[in-house]
Amino acid sequence: MNVLVLGAGQLARMMALAVKPLNINVRAFDVGSGNVFDPLSSNIVFGDLTQGIEFADFITAEFEHIDHQTLALCQASGKLRPSSQAIKVGGDRRLEKDLLVKCDVANAKHKIITTKADFDQALNSLTFPLILKSALAGYDGKGQWRLKDQTNAEEIWHDIKDFFDGGAQGVTNAVVAEQMVPFDREVSLVGARDSQGNTVVYPLTENHHTNGVLSVSIATQVNEALQAQAKQVFDSIANELNYIGVLAIEFFQIGEQLLVNEIAPRVHNSGHWTQQGADTCQFENHLRAVCDLPLGSTALVRPSAMINILGEEQVPNDILNVASTTLHWYGKSKRAGRKMGHINVSGKNEQELATRLQLLADILPEEAFDELKPYVTAYQNKLS
Ligand code: ATP
Ligand code: MG
Repeated sequence: MNVLVLGAGQLARMMALAVKPLNINVRAFDVGSGNVFDPLSSNIVFGDLTQGIEFADFITAEFEHIDHQTLALCQASGKLRPSSQAIKVGGDRRLEKDLLVKCDVANAKHKIITTKADFDQALNSLTFPLILKSALAGYDGKGQWRLKDQTNAEEIWHDIKDFFDGGAQGVTNAVVAEQMVPFDREVSLVGARDSQGNTVVYPLTENHHTNGVLSVSIATQVNEALQAQAKQVFDSIANELNYIGVLAIEFFQIGEQLLVNEIAPRVHNSGHWTQQGADTCQFENHLRAVCDLPLGSTALVRPSAMINILGEEQVPNDILNVASTTLHWYGKSKRAGRKMGHINVSGKNEQELATRLQLLADILPEEAFDELKPYVTAYQNKLS
């Protein structure tokens, strides 16, 4: 079986690694250069998309910001899973909010802004503090503004105007203004839906962000009621989109209530722990769904955590002395804050996981992993 992935980053690479034993060959289309790569050797195999489409039995995507012409070509081949519509929803916060409203799932109160009048009206009708997010091309906290009160409103409006003006020609962007949610924690649900409509989901994962970027995810025993609440949201969104593949939903948790933050129509950074912590990892399950193979068990094998390596091309090899620790590099060149790799660690129970996290926090350089120590201390306190 041959699969073409739109996007040639670490997610395509981890898909390729996961499904080699299933005899599925993954090729990755780099939207920037227009070349199709072997994601494992990084060799160019085709010089254009058309050849890649011809090669593929199925086509999927590793990110949602793909130009609509490329999506249309892939959709027309009849091989694209999930559909171009589902991918577009993940890449445009306006469509995403429409979907959440349509599925009647709880989310933050918001207004769509395209003009100064909309901006003024949003500031009057929503309650501060606000977060304003570009409808298009936002990821890892980019294209976002925060407003505590009216004080810097004019300045921020000018910034947003500049952001609109600097965007792609002929594309109308907007900003979604949202009320800040006073959440207790952030969690995400990663799951898969196949073409028959069967769905499976992993346990809810708790996520910690540093400067708007995911730094640590942790998957442990689940609160059944909360898991059921999340699964219901997953099913309604995945069914509405007639979705095929892995879909991730980010939530804010307040008390026992979940509000959807956003959805990602793809495998997700908060699901990387499944490589070692679940029966079937998210990358394999994504391609099982895409290739019409039976979905694999999503059961948690052991409590597990994932630590992102941001902007570092090396970590002390000593971390591999910590039991049940694995290191995953993406083969990317170094840039400040860039996702370069991740570390997975598991334990037979949460206590053992916490001990191993502590060992890792002691080895990893504090400058590059400054949030890790306080996080591990808080986690240990919670357990004791
Ligand atoms: P990523 O690609 O990492 O998922 P993103 O750029 O798509 O990020 P969001 O997930 O919408 O952006 O926001 C990034 C982070 O900002 C969230 O994980 C959360 O910590 C914070 N945040 C976003 N929206 C809100 C909100 N309405 N209330 C409180 N915090 C928020
Ligand atoms: Mg997010």
